[in-house]
Amino acid sequence: MPDATETLRHYVHFMREREGVRQIKLTRAAREGLAKVVGARTASVPVARAASLPESSRSSAATGSEPPSVTRPVSEPVARRSTATPAPMVPVAREVSNERIEVTGASKVEQLAHLNERAQACQKCPHLVARRHTVVFGVGDPEAKLMFVGEGPGEEEDLKGEPFVGKAGQLLTKMIVAMGLTREQVYIANIVKCRPDMPVGVPGNRKPTRDEMDTCVPYLRAQIDIIKPRALVALGATAIEGLVGATGTMGSLRGKFLEYRNVPVMPTYHPSYLLRNQSTAEKRKVWEDLLKVMEKLELPISEKQRGFFLAKG
Ligand code: URA
Repeated sequence: MPDATETLRHYVHFMREREGVRQIKLTRAAREGLAKVVGARTASVPVARAASLPESSRSSAATGSEPPSVTRPVSEPVARRSTATPAPMVPVAREVSNERIEVTGASKVEQLAHLNERAQACQKCPHLVARRHTVVFGVGDPEAKLMFVGEGPGEEEDLKGEPFVGKAGQLLTKMIVAMGLTREQVYIANIVKCRPDMPVGVPGNRKPTRDEMDTCVPYLRAQIDIIKPRALVALGATAIEGLVGATGTMGSLRGKFLEYRNVPVMPTYHPSYLLRNQSTAEKRKVWEDLLKVMEKLELPISEKQRGFFLAKG
């Protein structure tokens, strides 16, 4: 289980790499909490310093026999990127946990219900259990041909108990509709089922830690085993890392099918990246990735759909 220092370190890494933030202003409560953890005395945290806080020792329960880490910082291109930690250009594969969760039930619906019951009762990450409002299992058609995989619940998802219901979720729903599908026809789930906790008083969400992903990903794997989709879309670097162990920039990973247990996986940008980078060119990249998925699934594609987000002229 990560301690508060590790949580903070991941938050800072997330803010720096994903949001391009270089200085984080803290509320009084957060400052006081932080002071207890790292002895900080200032009103804001220089990101480079906080990000280099020593990594705390990992709990053996969560990591098991983790192989030597080939972790590299994972980032999506951002407008205001810090130059402190250059992202690798080449995808790096990492071994991922192979724990299997056995489920019972005659139909997919029953099996998913059984798995959901187990996830709802999960206590493997006590720091997340302590703060969660819900366990965000997943939503959609158990017979779905297409499954979307995100990172983990944010604040809104934690409150509602459903993945992708916030702003990024609304954009994901639009993407699904643009493909000629509905949210009810696909299945949507995350790498981690509990909201990654935030330091007290600090707003926003953070990326799950490696330990949290390794601990939780067997639930997602079991969901995929039950649903047996014909294609997966991994939304963002965390999803692709958690699912197939590939790390790298999304710029280098997106657009080419990878494989997860013989199921094609298309890595593409997370919708929250598109909310931050609203250029037609970035939207087109994601759309081209989704067109490839539609072709793979032999979904009908109209000329209008082929032309979405193409620069006019
Ligand atoms: N982002 C994710 O990756 N998953 C969600 O469920 C919501 C936002």
